[in-house]
Amino acid sequence: MEGINLNKYKLRDYIDLLNHIVSIHWEKRFRPVSASFEITSYCNLKCFYCYNNIYNDKVRIENMKEHEILRVIDDLQSLGIIELIITGGEPFIRPDLLEIIKYIKLNTDIFITLQTNGALLNERNILVLSDLLSKYDIVQISLDGPKEIYESIKGKGLWDKVIKNIILLKDVGITVTINTVPTKLNINHLDTLAKIVPWVDGFGASPLAVFNKRDLHLIPDPKLAIDIEKKVERILEKRGIRYLGGIRGELCQYINTIKNITFYIKNEKTKNIHCDAGITKFHIAANGDVYPCVYLQFPKFLMGNVLREDIEKIWSNWDPSLLKRNLKNTVCEKCPYISLCKGGCTGMAYGFYNTIDRPDPRCVKNEYD
Ligand code: SF4
Ligand code: SF4
Repeated sequence: MEGINLNKYKLRDYIDLLNHIVSIHWEKRFRPVSASFEITSYCNLKCFYCYNNIYNDKVRIENMKEHEILRVIDDLQSLGIIELIITGGEPFIRPDLLEIIKYIKLNTDIFITLQTNGALLNERNILVLSDLLSKYDIVQISLDGPKEIYESIKGKGLWDKVIKNIILLKDVGITVTINTVPTKLNINHLDTLAKIVPWVDGFGASPLAVFNKRDLHLIPDPKLAIDIEKKVERILEKRGIRYLGGIRGELCQYINTIKNITFYIKNEKTKNIHCDAGITKFHIAANGDVYPCVYLQFPKFLMGNVLREDIEKIWSNWDPSLLKRNLKNTVCEKCPYISLCKGGCTGMAYGFYNTIDRPDPRCVKNEYD
């Protein structure tokens, strides 16, 4: 077997692989490898599809103070976290964001993925970032379509500014990826976006999170999504931009024909088919509450709070069997793809049905009652 080539892409693949191997033996206790940290609940924008809208009034009440965040970072380092996703809200809302990043880079071995809408970036903070971040750290910018589509989702006058910031980030040598959320509103424009986006290191998508019937109607047609994905991949390949997957959505959206499922598996880009929530990863909300995944921020799955307890203790006290699903008497029971799909996303099932013992509401075989 070839050794691990630790360039910036292989590193992410390695983390994915580790996640995958560990999560299929989920009943054993392992150390987590990645965490996401919502360092603020506030955002300068209000995207209609943001999963944060559902938790906003329920969970997000306050933000942690800088010294509390730094203590959590020390704990994450002790726990052995390899990758930290800094998220929000919009992280750049915090005036101390750069200090937090500086602390991570000077005091830990943790790699950062910084998720931002890019609108609050400027020459000054980009220059500071370029001094702090290594080539293994990533700034991930949310971009949902060409100018007109983008501004209809994010707000007027933002496109030029964000594009300029992407170019500035690249000019100073920062690793930048683009992330998009495919919906009926933008799916037909993603190939155009792939053509016009400035040169970046990667381009990927996060399938739409679905918590109610309104969201379901926004999911693009799976066949169309596959066609658009093929186009996007071709365009990106010609431009030397790495396609990171995700446009086609979740596996359970393609189960209607053998041909589709074969195509999906052969071309599968996102490896996290098995749910690794609370197995190899966890999420810290803006008020310090810890959950197994960003999509499982419900009281039933509260693991603890980093303001009151040590993360090590929170992690070792957590019982992953809480997320063991019983899919008997559901459409999954006789589904030939159950061993691969496992009923789809656990968080989506709970958010939609208030139980994890139902299939992902996005599954084409599902009945939406
Ligand atoms: S029926 Fe269940 S296992 Fe089969 S594809 Fe749908 S969610 Fe996945
Ligand atoms: S809850 Fe959903 S998004 Fe989170 S790890 Fe499980 S399958 Fe993935």
